[in-house]
Amino acid sequence: MARTVNESGCGEETQSQEPQGPGLGSARWGPQHAGARELANLYSPGKRCQEWVSVILCFSLMAFNFIHLLANFHLGHLWYILLSVVAGILTADFASGLVHWGADTWGSVDLPIFGKAFIRPFREHHIDPTAITRHDFIETNGDNCMLTVVPLANMAFSFLTLTPQEIYHVYPWFCYLFALGVFVTLTNQIHKWSHTYFGLPRWVVFLQDFHIILPRKHHRIHHVSPHETYFCITTGWLNYPLEKMGFWRNLEDLIQGVTGEKPRADDLKWAQKVK
Ligand SMILES: [Zn+2]
Ligand SMILES: [Zn+2]
Repeated sequence: MARTVNESGCGEETQSQEPQGPGLGSARWGPQHAGARELANLYSPGKRCQEWVSVILCFSLMAFNFIHLLANFHLGHLWYILLSVVAGILTADFASGLVHWGADTWGSVDLPIFGKAFIRPFREHHIDPTAITRHDFIETNGDNCMLTVVPLANMAFSFLTLTPQEIYHVYPWFCYLFALGVFVTLTNQIHKWSHTYFGLPRWVVFLQDFHIILPRKHHRIHHVSPHETYFCITTGWLNYPLEKMGFWRNLEDLIQGVTGEKPRADDLKWAQKVK
């Protein structure tokens, strides 16, 4: 497979390998695609500000909660902790699939406020999959940080107000919530790494190779047009079982039956944009 090295020395997939969907005519995936250019221009200063605030709040709360989890650690909880962490990661993987599937399949960039702020990045990612490797830390992680700020703040408040005995009893639940929060927060960073082919730190490649986070080869399955499977992008652990169950297909049939909406209509519209 062809590779290129971008200006920061990080490798990335070339656009030419991205599969061409039916009826796409002369449209080519990548930053030169007319739809991709239009979507990139919709990234506004207000959106950037929302991302900065979210990242600062989220990582401060994460550090605060982590210190309190360490301070309240008891060896007797060890098995509960391990179980809670695995359950938290599985929940995060499923949530990543559900949100990704929802944004890819339904809704439109034309929706007021929400469309440009939250649907736009998903549309851009399909027609310019390497754009994410050029996004900085704030743009990559801003939206996910916003999702986890409230639950992390809630946990921090509990650490400040509960007695040590009360904390002891809810400790495994807090471990579950913390693992869920951390993996939801890092999902798009993990997703960005799955598109980066050179310059990744060794420990990231190790985590990918052992399928602890989303591996590069695994995520490529989602990028085959029309992008209708393998939506989980945190660890990807649930992609195979959900595909075997026909989970997304059945859910789409159900929604189409009830609402009459066609899945991926907006995604296809952007993919076909040539001017
Ligand atoms: Zn997608
Ligand atoms: Zn991707």
